[in-house]
Amino acid sequence: MDFRRASAYHKPQHLLQEIAARFDPARVAISFSGAEDVVLIDMAQRAGLQFNIFSLDTGRLHPETYAYLERVREHYGVAIELLMPQPQAVADLVQEKGLFSFYKDGHGECCGVRKIEPLRRKLRTLDAWITGQRKDQSVTRTNILLEHEDRAFSTKEHPLLKFNPLSDWSSQDVWAYIRAQEVPYNELHDRGFVSIGCQPCTRAVGPHEHERSGRWWWEEATHKECGLHSQNVVRILS
Ligand code: SF4
Repeated sequence: MDFRRASAYHKPQHLLQEIAARFDPARVAISFSGAEDVVLIDMAQRAGLQFNIFSLDTGRLHPETYAYLERVREHYGVAIELLMPQPQAVADLVQEKGLFSFYKDGHGECCGVRKIEPLRRKLRTLDAWITGQRKDQSVTRTNILLEHEDRAFSTKEHPLLKFNPLSDWSSQDVWAYIRAQEVPYNELHDRGFVSIGCQPCTRAVGPHEHERSGRWWWEEATHKECGLHSQNVVRILS
């Protein structure tokens, strides 16, 4: 590791250590799905920090993503809690609107059932969560802070903090770390996928396209949050 990289690593590593010291380990977790999140898992493991890890299993992920979840679980010897939607809510949505309603009336309703409700259930049990969001990922993320109150999921009775240790990193920083530390990554990245979500809502992007352009490509860039980070959309639209 050269000095420039070592210094870039220091800030997120230090923040992870600070989070581990500040919170009851049972009430803080890393949200895992993509390349940024596995960097956080790798950093935590190297520092001996035992964070809970969860991932949203919408039932619509690529087979490669399920294989990747297993690879990460085995590589680090960690448990990954899979958050699943309420079966009846999925059945009702599919019964009423079919399997691909998001192409016609936007992704909000399906994401609400398959992602937001299970996430909200999980976040009620936490005081803080840690994500791999970066400022340069999209126009909805340019103001992301290292630490802030999660206004999308906080309630008056239950404030929730959100940490984004890689907010100042670029995609190049993430991939430099992954290559240097031999971190496992989703094999879809080798086929042109950059930001990876559910299979029907993700496609590969060209070399000069923005990394989030492969997500919900039929919708406006300013609406490209699935609700996990809906505070970002509130900020840009207000
Ligand atoms: S990303 Fe697509 S398939 Fe996945 S929950 Fe959202 S709308 Fe549904």
